Amino acid sequence: MRWARVAKCVCAAVVLAALGGAAWAGDNETQPARGANQPVDEAYTAKIKKYTTEPYFTSPLVDYLPASKNVPTPEVVLGDVSGAPGILPYAEDVYKYMRLLEKASPSRVKVFSIGHTEEGREMIAVAVSSEANLKNLESNRAELAKLADPRTIKLNDAEADKIVARATPIYYITGTIHSPETGAPTALMELAYRLAVDESPYVKEIRDGVVTLITPVVEVDGRDRMVDIYKWHLSHPNSFYPSLVYWGKYVAHDNNRDAMGVTLKLTENVLNTYTGWKAQVLHDLHESVPYLYDNTVGDGPYNAWIDPILADEWQMIGARNVADLTKFGMPGVFTHGDFDTWSPGYLMFIAAMHNGISRLYETFGNGDADTKERTLEPEEYARTWYKQNPPLPKTLWSQRDNNNYEETGLLTSLHYFNENKRMFLKNFYLKAKRSTLKPTAEGPAAYVLPGDDPRSELQAELLQVMDKQKVEISRATTAFSVTFPPKKKEETGKHGHGDAKESEKEKKDNEPTTREFPAGSYVIRMDQPYSRIADALLDHQYWSPDDPQKTPYDDTAWTFGELFGVQVVRVTDAKVLSTAMERVNSVKLPGGVKGDGTVFAINNNAQPTLATLRYKLKDATMDAVEEPFEAGGTKFNRGTVLVKGVNKGDLDKAAGEAGVEVVALGSAPSVKTHPLRAARIAFVHTWLSTQTEGWWRLALDNIGVPYDYMSTQAIGKIDDLRAKYDVILFPPVGYNAPASAIINGLPTSWGNPLPWKNTPETPNLVGKNDSTDDMRPGLGWDGLAKLHEFVAKGGVLLTATDTSSFAIGSGFENGVTLNQAQKMNIVGSILSTRLVDGASPIAYGYGEKVSVYCDNGPIFSLTAIAGERRRRRLGSHTKERPTGRGTIDDPDFAVGRPATETPEEKSTETWEIPEVTDEQKLNNPRVIPDADLPRVILRYADSKDLLVSGLLEGGDEIAQHPAVVDVPSGAGHVILFSINPVYRGETRGTYSLVLNTILNWDSLNAGRKAAEK
Ligand SMILES: [Zn+2]
Repeated sequence: MRWARVAKCVCAAVVLAALGGAAWAGDNETQPARGANQPVDEAYTAKIKKYTTEPYFTSPLVDYLPASKNVPTPEVVLGDVSGAPGILPYAEDVYKYMRLLEKASPSRVKVFSIGHTEEGREMIAVAVSSEANLKNLESNRAELAKLADPRTIKLNDAEADKIVARATPIYYITGTIHSPETGAPTALMELAYRLAVDESPYVKEIRDGVVTLITPVVEVDGRDRMVDIYKWHLSHPNSFYPSLVYWGKYVAHDNNRDAMGVTLKLTENVLNTYTGWKAQVLHDLHESVPYLYDNTVGDGPYNAWIDPILADEWQMIGARNVADLTKFGMPGVFTHGDFDTWSPGYLMFIAAMHNGISRLYETFGNGDADTKERTLEPEEYARTWYKQNPPLPKTLWSQRDNNNYEETGLLTSLHYFNENKRMFLKNFYLKAKRSTLKPTAEGPAAYVLPGDDPRSELQAELLQVMDKQKVEISRATTAFSVTFPPKKKEETGKHGHGDAKESEKEKKDNEPTTREFPAGSYVIRMDQPYSRIADALLDHQYWSPDDPQKTPYDDTAWTFGELFGVQVVRVTDAKVLSTAMERVNSVKLPGGVKGDGTVFAINNNAQPTLATLRYKLKDATMDAVEEPFEAGGTKFNRGTVLVKGVNKGDLDKAAGEAGVEVVALGSAPSVKTHPLRAARIAFVHTWLSTQTEGWWRLALDNIGVPYDYMSTQAIGKIDDLRAKYDVILFPPVGYNAPASAIINGLPTSWGNPLPWKNTPETPNLVGKNDSTDDMRPGLGWDGLAKLHEFVAKGGVLLTATDTSSFAIGSGFENGVTLNQAQKMNIVGSILSTRLVDGASPIAYGYGEKVSVYCDNGPIFSLTAIAGERRRRRLGSHTKERPTGRGTIDDPDFAVGRPATETPEEKSTETWEIPEVTDEQKLNNPRVIPDADLPRVILRYADSKDLLVSGLLEGGDEIAQHPAVVDVPSGAGHVILFSINPVYRGETRGTYSLVLNTILNWDSLNAGRKAAEK
């Protein structure tokens, strides 16, 4: 079989040679070949050949290494060539090489520090270009800045053309954001070397024409852990090695889903570098698809807010990239595939949302630096319309092969980009100009965040995200009003037969409306170059259930106003732009004490900063009021916090720092209160995956809520959980982990222990997280028993999504059951929920409607009979009745006797607990006493109101079902979330559902209607 393939490849080479120069686009384009007089590093070149497993897994661009008298090759640091088996450098070694390169070739290479990670490791960007370009970096940046912000040249196209004709563009490449995708750093070390020393016309043109900017390691913390694991593997070659359970401090694979919320340092550092350099391209390297999938062209649906110019650029660059590598005879290169470009959460999408070009490669990685026989799935090696030269079903694959593909792809991309740089620079300007013209083009004119939104803290947090995204924020200095167009378009004749009420409503919908905004309202103007990212984040999304794309690649919705729980008003009326307003340079959370008085009250608007203050002022007494009240003309919500035992000055300082607004009142309100205590928290993770819970850790750390972080393994080893903790948080495991996996972990009956701990061999593994001698064991039955004991003794266990399913499946259910979804499809969508029990402390600060993040449930149902599913009901309520005479609303009859009265069954709503019938009560020990019945806090909205943003299919199955439930259990509670309330730094509006549980942990029965506990 191998023989046949080699023969084919030789064939291809012959064809290529015969076609000669004519095979390449553009008559005057330089051929991709080594220079005629280029000295070659023969020893290095021999090793490249040795480590390349097939002759067709390389190209004329990378099958040799140019020699230099004074510039060191990557070998000085690696001890071998880039991509050599058995070698993965730490980030520090990669940086060491880049700095050696800079030292040896200072006029062509410059290394910049671009910030640090959560664990304090450095991130760098390496610029490689010609002497002249590096000397003119600053003046060139000033030129590019004018294209990036066309307002600076008054949108003058002629002026722009002059700059386009002389400016040098920036092509930014980022590597190994995904730590188990290990190949990019060595490829980028060698690429930097080639760009610095190769004198072939092909490479020299790139060096003279473009500034190539390289961040060789994006996830630096994760890289060092990955290298540790690999070293462990090399010294224990016959053992299984631990999977990379922690990458960065907080999240793993999701580090590439943070480009909206910008909560991770790596996102912030790359975003600042990309926008600071005014780069045109951000090209991110990944390794999960054979052999090179240039995936930004991908598949639909495309993100609705990108400029069509960008879609065109993707297609141009992608098509040419495939063509070039195909002509080299490299198999498995393609650009269409199953990646849709809908979500703007990916790192490379920073460019798409800031008027540049986003690109992403999936090359083929082995997950380490071993050379391995790799067998593909049929769908991977199938020849399809977009993959005419597919990868091989089975092949020996090396890290060098991967590096060859990465470098060849990048070099041809840089070449093509350079050849067409005037067009790409002009496009860069045009995209920025079109963003600036948004108000008069597609609209909207602005987004307004009203100055009287009671959620001022969360509003400020949302604006801070906009600020991180480089969006300009303004604040109205006067009150103003805007007009909204009619909701419905006039459709003559179609709706002529509705009733009077309906036509009244239609009439209203057909009329324009106006709205007043007070002075101090925030205005995000769309006549600015980065309007696109603001528009994309603040607008609503709609993903049709009929979309041909049946498997969305990621979340289908992210609408930030909804997820932050703050008002964001989309305004198309361009008059808004003439409102008197001033630029706001940084948005601070409002905070401090206002007014005179001795009683300090904090109105509860579900602001997470309440928890910040509670933990900050450990010794102060805080009480939550159980009913709303009015004082000094202000309405205070249920859950309003009264602070005692701290003087005004200290409170003012602490509240100012925490971002909490406090009002001093003349006297205490006469309403029932209960203490608001700083619960002692255990935060539980599994060794299966830490990513989804990582977003919870990040949120709690930012808010300032302390916790003891421990694995499921640790639970069984703690004598008395309740003596140490009040609340146990068990956030989602992710991947819909089944209960059995949480309890059992990985198999321990065979194999070897998988340690996750720091040793001289693995100095970076643990960081600030957790360690174990063996990652395999799970919670265990002893751990489960300890959790039950904890709740029985008055502790509060909080679970969400898959850990809620685990709780329901392992004896914590008391009246909550799970429904299997049939046709439901909710892929990271925003749904609407309704407040069911506003008196529950968990709901403090929330209104009647709460928008939530939902990813396919789970679907909860309620029953008053332990261990039984909710009964299917017959009767007019469900429009079902037994077969018989008459219509659906009629009673049946029995021939030969008068009709008998049928017992009236009380109808219950989906979110309510069905009443226990007389029959069910007969000698039934399963009937749950009132005081132990579950209490529904939030339920999903009715089907027609359920979708807020994103994709919703089969929503009937979850509509009206409970979304957040408080289940009394023993002396404690289990709080079950069907939604994920803490997710990717985006769902800040629902954080307080968790924080309220924490602060009111010993008063959760407050306001309970069912019999008192
Ligand atoms: Zn990846």
